Amino acid sequence: APSPDWVPGPDPARALAEVRALFADVHGGEPTGVWAAPGRVNLVGEHVDYAGGTSLPLALPHRTLVALRPRDDGRVRVVSAWAPDEPWEGALADVRPVRHPDEDRDEDRDEHEDRDEGEDRDEGEDRDEGEEGDRSVQGWPAYPAGVLWALGQPDDPGWDVPGADLAIASDVPVGAGLSSSAALTCSTALAVSDVLGHGDDDATRSVLVDACVRAENDVAGAATGGMDQQASLRCRAGHLLLLDSADGTVEHVPFSLEEHGLVLLVVDTRATHELTDGQYAARRADCARAAGLLGVEHLARAARGTSVEEVLERLHAAGADERVVRRARHVLTEEERTHALVELLRADRPQDVGPLLDGSHASLRDDHEVSSVELDVVTEAARGAGALGARMTGGGFGGSAIALVRTGDVDAVARAVTTASADAGHPRPQLVAVTAAQGAERVA
Ligand code: ADP
Ligand code: MG
Repeated sequence: APSPDWVPGPDPARALAEVRALFADVHGGEPTGVWAAPGRVNLVGEHVDYAGGTSLPLALPHRTLVALRPRDDGRVRVVSAWAPDEPWEGALADVRPVRHPDEDRDEDRDEHEDRDEGEDRDEGEDRDEGEEGDRSVQGWPAYPAGVLWALGQPDDPGWDVPGADLAIASDVPVGAGLSSSAALTCSTALAVSDVLGHGDDDATRSVLVDACVRAENDVAGAATGGMDQQASLRCRAGHLLLLDSADGTVEHVPFSLEEHGLVLLVVDTRATHELTDGQYAARRADCARAAGLLGVEHLARAARGTSVEEVLERLHAAGADERVVRRARHVLTEEERTHALVELLRADRPQDVGPLLDGSHASLRDDHEVSSVELDVVTEAARGAGALGARMTGGGFGGSAIALVRTGDVDAVARAVTTASADAGHPRPQLVAVTAAQGAERVA
């Protein structure tokens, strides 16, 4: 049987040396500073941020570092150790938004309720091609360039953003559902904020969150709901971030598994499926439709003061089709699970949250239909080998799962998910045990 593949732990000193060397190599001299922002995993509260729901992410010890030095000629030059042969240089004034992927799709969705995967595929490909051609910045540089653009938008926040030289290095696995994109945008945003002397309070962090969301959605053309950026910018070490997406308020919930003999394992399936953005936009549209039929702004809050069953009955009565009802059921039950999980943590009972994690996975798989066969295989294998609970995390359609595991069962679970993936003919997953780390900060 294949042996488990453990992701190397983060190495902050190495990453700092790497980003400094890259900066000196490409731009010459020293950056003004270096800023770091983490990837994240979400413990529970998935696919609810765009429905005004509650999420519970934690920051990873894995971070993206941005070295930055302002320029006075309005130009932007970026290079990343992740794609050293694809640097980008351009005028900040030439960075433009693309049309939001959701806007193209929301309208025609209602007319094609029962389209199958094949039809989705064709449309997704057309859409992607059209959009790529539209972009003022192609590929990964759209993320950092988009942040500079967003922070300079006259409507909000209207900062006087200078051109800049940037170099990037990262320990965050890219495209694994651990939010390397938010780690990149958030470290860039904090760097800009700091060199502009904006201070570092909660209000400023919220401005940065919004700018990063806008950069991803509007310039990189990647649909994102805000949870990732909130987590990367606002998490605290040793805590989960209890995030209410309806109003952006947060609470910091103490989270330390070690004293309970528990480990949070992240399993990157290394399976990526195309069309994630199209599917994501479709889920968003379904939830927006349910909210519209109910006449509420935030679908996730609709069962407050009543019950999930009652809300679903009202949806039926309002003429919602079966698929929209299932999407709503995911959001509403996920909201219940998240609050139940927080209560267990506050009662110092982390060992009892497993069934809520399992329930979240089942709901995401069956009602929201955002899991994948790889995610189903690893979560089932983890449970079979003694994990207390396991679920997909992040947007789904591949990416990563999490498993809550007793310290003594870690090896067995790691072997089980590796073997099960091999038996199913899937890629060998990558594993990492994570702790709740600090959000974005200046490191040099
Ligand atoms: P995730 O955020 O889950 O890792 P995404 O698809 O949202 O996956 O974001 C991955 C994209 O973000 C990459 O394809 C790349 O464009 C950009 N990106 C992330 N990290 C880096 C990095 N260190 N250097 C350059 N680009 C990065
Ligand atoms: Mg991302």
